[in-house]
Amino acid sequence: MFASPSVAPLTADFGPFAILLKVQNTPLREHPVSLAMEERSILGKTAREYPMTPLQKKMLQDMGPGRVTLHYPLGGYTTFRAGGPVEALYEAHTLAELIDLITFLAQEKIPYFVIGRGSNMLVSDDGLDAVAISLKGEFLTIEVAEGDAQGLLVGAGTSIFDLLDHCRVHGLSGVEFLAGIPGTAGGAVAMNAGAFGREIGEKVAGVELINGKGQKGWLNRERLHFFYRHFERPAGAVITRVLFSLEKESGERIRQRIVEYLKKKKARQPLELPSAGSVFKNPPGHYAGKLIEEAGLKGKRIGGAMISPKHANFIVNTGQAKAADILALIRTAREKVKARFGVDLDLEIEVLG
Ligand SMILES: Cc1cc2nc3c(=O)[nH]c(=O)nc-3n(C[C@H](O)[C@H](O)[C@H](O)COP(=O)(O)OP(=O)(O)OC[C@H]3O[C@@H](n4cnc5c(N)ncnc54)[C@H](O)[C@@H]3O)c2cc1C
Repeated sequence: MFASPSVAPLTADFGPFAILLKVQNTPLREHPVSLAMEERSILGKTAREYPMTPLQKKMLQDMGPGRVTLHYPLGGYTTFRAGGPVEALYEAHTLAELIDLITFLAQEKIPYFVIGRGSNMLVSDDGLDAVAISLKGEFLTIEVAEGDAQGLLVGAGTSIFDLLDHCRVHGLSGVEFLAGIPGTAGGAVAMNAGAFGREIGEKVAGVELINGKGQKGWLNRERLHFFYRHFERPAGAVITRVLFSLEKESGERIRQRIVEYLKKKKARQPLELPSAGSVFKNPPGHYAGKLIEEAGLKGKRIGGAMISPKHANFIVNTGQAKAADILALIRTAREKVKARFGVDLDLEIEVLG
């Protein structure tokens, strides 16, 4: 493993992006609304369908003393800063602990999902009867791959910010285009995050994961299937480590490239307000933002949510948005774009609940 370098972090270079990386919990909304969510849910069920029994909650707490927070305000943790609580948040620090946890959840048929930085998620105002797993401890490490000085083995909970800072300090190039993406390595791989015509999948040489039965596995490059904002993996799989294949380059050149990407993003994106980045995928042959703009929706508000006047594929929370406001704008954008251009807009963000 690398010795921790005594070099100043990238915070100054990241400017407003650094703020997005801070964890801020907002209080729970007092009057949750009921959502009729026809949108895709990663849990494949509606909220409040299968609550845990008191015994299951107790067993979960006994599995990881100090690791479990019941009724955790997950919506406030996401970068949208909207939405309700999750039944429990479990902070897993070791692989052994994670395997036990997933085995238990699978046996008990308790729905679960990983929360990275919550920067590509919309949580229902009603909240979720599920366990959110947050990867901490040994999932935050960055190591040189054995026998490969240009291979980096990165814990899935590591922030993209820390990954890029590490690459700059150690002169490893190839993922600078991820600058400004406020997620984790695991979340970025799960989403096949990309920017400036590049995708993270291009630089991934292997992925370690735990499948939905609690078994550890490793997928080599030839078994990795990346698509536009999607990484194919077994149902319920949790990505635990990612092997990146990078190139040697000067740290200063890497820093300059990061700063250039950040400048471009800052000029185009409404970073001053909470959002989850691009809401819709670009349909083949189109840009979702351009279609929404041409449908006359820039600046359109519903409740506390607004289609950004700066970038029409961003929905921003102007202060007190509910998940329902954001969903209503999503429906409006879809309807208007379909009516005007005959194009279906698919969600890039994940709707939970
Ligand atoms: C201001 C802003 C700018 C953005 N710019 C971009 C951009 O340029 N390009 C882009 O692609 N995205 C962008 N995004 C969206 C988002 O940051 C990315 O999709 C990011 O990769 C999500 O990472 P996360 O850790 O926050 O994942 P989360 O939002 O927490 O999770 C997203 C999905 O991944 C799953 N997941 C997370 N971690 C794991 C894991 N370890 N194992 C299995 N599944 C996991 C979750 O369960 C969920 O299904 C932007 C968002 C914001 C707010």
